[in-house]
Amino acid sequence: MPASPTSKQIAIVGAGICGLCTALGLAKQGHKVTVYERDDPLPDGDPDEIFFEWLRRGASQFRHPHAFLAAMSNLLTEQFPDLIENFWQAGARKVTFQEMLPPELSQRYTPAPEDEALWLLMCRRATMEMVLRRYALQQPNLTIASGIRVNAMVTEMVGTQMQITGLTVQARAANAQPSNINADIVIDAAGRGSPFKRWFQQTGLAIETESHDAGIVYYTRHYQFKPGIDEPKRDGKTRSAGDLGYLKYGVFPGSGGHFAVILCVPCDDNILHDAVKDDATFDQICSAIPGLQPWLGADQAVATTPSFGMGNIKAVWHDFSHDNQPLLLNYYAVGDSSVRTNPLYGRGCSTGAIHSKILTDVLSQDQDPVSAATQFAEETRKQLRPIWQASLDEDRTGIKRAQTILTASSAPAALTLKKRFAIAYGDALTRSTQIHLRVFRGAFRTFNLMELPGAFLKDIGTQALIFWTLIRYGAENKKARVVPGPDRDEMIASLAPEAAQHAA
Ligand SMILES: Cc1cc2nc3c(=O)[nH]c(=O)nc-3n(C[C@H](O)[C@H](O)[C@H](O)COP(=O)(O)OP(=O)(O)OC[C@H]3O[C@@H](n4cnc5c(N)ncnc54)[C@H](O)[C@@H]3O)c2cc1C
Repeated sequence: MPASPTSKQIAIVGAGICGLCTALGLAKQGHKVTVYERDDPLPDGDPDEIFFEWLRRGASQFRHPHAFLAAMSNLLTEQFPDLIENFWQAGARKVTFQEMLPPELSQRYTPAPEDEALWLLMCRRATMEMVLRRYALQQPNLTIASGIRVNAMVTEMVGTQMQITGLTVQARAANAQPSNINADIVIDAAGRGSPFKRWFQQTGLAIETESHDAGIVYYTRHYQFKPGIDEPKRDGKTRSAGDLGYLKYGVFPGSGGHFAVILCVPCDDNILHDAVKDDATFDQICSAIPGLQPWLGADQAVATTPSFGMGNIKAVWHDFSHDNQPLLLNYYAVGDSSVRTNPLYGRGCSTGAIHSKILTDVLSQDQDPVSAATQFAEETRKQLRPIWQASLDEDRTGIKRAQTILTASSAPAALTLKKRFAIAYGDALTRSTQIHLRVFRGAFRTFNLMELPGAFLKDIGTQALIFWTLIRYGAENKKARVVPGPDRDEMIASLAPEAAQHAA
């Protein structure tokens, strides 16, 4: 699209997931977009080569597995219809609603029109970046300046209001000199370690930040099936993702026989923390979990990476305004640099894609910078805050449960009637998702961020089914929540003798 009279010079910091989604949306509107990315350009090669060889220090989660929820896959398809084919060519998989049904529902499934939109895009994050980047490089009005680090922001005062007018950039090559570039609008898509907060502080602008530690470490190991071995069928007998209370696990199927396993343990569980760091004990843990045995049992897969981890897992919310006034005009933060959730829920890229869409919609209207910033902040709060809050609530529940297990010596606290009802209702809800299509569909919509968290629970029919399950099955519903697997003591005993000794 040719640049329109209202077209602006837009500088985006960071060519990660959200930076690229935003760049694509704004270039399509006719803005002139330059993305500055500190890491090297995308190398040539196939998805395997890119996964193993591309050095992505700026996105330290690059080799951790990612799932891309329906919210993101639908936004990408709606905004860039010709993009999606490139994912299939790169070996990505479409996981449909029907494929995700629990076995009991699968047999009596009747499709509803809305199920079409309930699909996940499954590929390695490297493949996601490769496809987005190659597509972006073909677009008019869009330039990606790789190997260029943004070092500072350039600002000026207009009356009492500070505004951003450009950036100081510097190539990473030896002897490169910094230079200033001008921009009408600067978008901070620099991710979880964005330097803008520091620069705001140095300029005397105070961002309000809420930050809550999720109390876990996140470890990954990648594997590939040996030749002739197929991926296990989903038969509903085992769970390829689950929460044992003291440990959360999950399998991320990939293409070409590749798959990844994640293990998350509490930061303060020293024994299990040490165990997931080590390749041999990582594998031992996996082989002790029934849900992982169809993947890693019988010596059918080989590891393609060591086990590697990531800490600093937090829910973070930044507020870039004060008394409803933007702190810095013409500056917008999207994705992790603004809103971060625990990666365990697989929401970050989808909330990033929603955030990009909010921003591109706001910038498609020719309005003054204060109104645009205010509208962006309001929409961000309306659409993303409930997701962020739900993630934080889940973190808190997880922390409590893990602490109870770790300090098992204390007698279980007596439960109030209200608490007992809440647990019974939760169990009935979990059971209902396994036996009632209507409830599963609602929960799946929530999981995929196709509605605000828990919106499906307002549906009267859904409520009736959950109450019916509560009354009909009573305490039996508890089984629905129990994930088969060893308890913590059994797990530790099954590990290498050193770990068990440490535990004693
Ligand atoms: C372990 C882990 C697992 C995850 N799993 C999932 C998942 O399954 N599903 C999901 O949806 N989300 C997942 N996430 C979250 C997801 O990775 C992030 O939410 C997403 O990448 C955010 O996109 P972003 O564009 O904001 O930041 P990023 O993708 O991190 O990109 C930021 C970019 O900015 C660049 N940059 C930074 N500073 C500068 C600078 N000064 N100059 C120039 N460039 C700079 C970086 O090099 C990087 O390329 C996971 C996160 C982690 C940590």
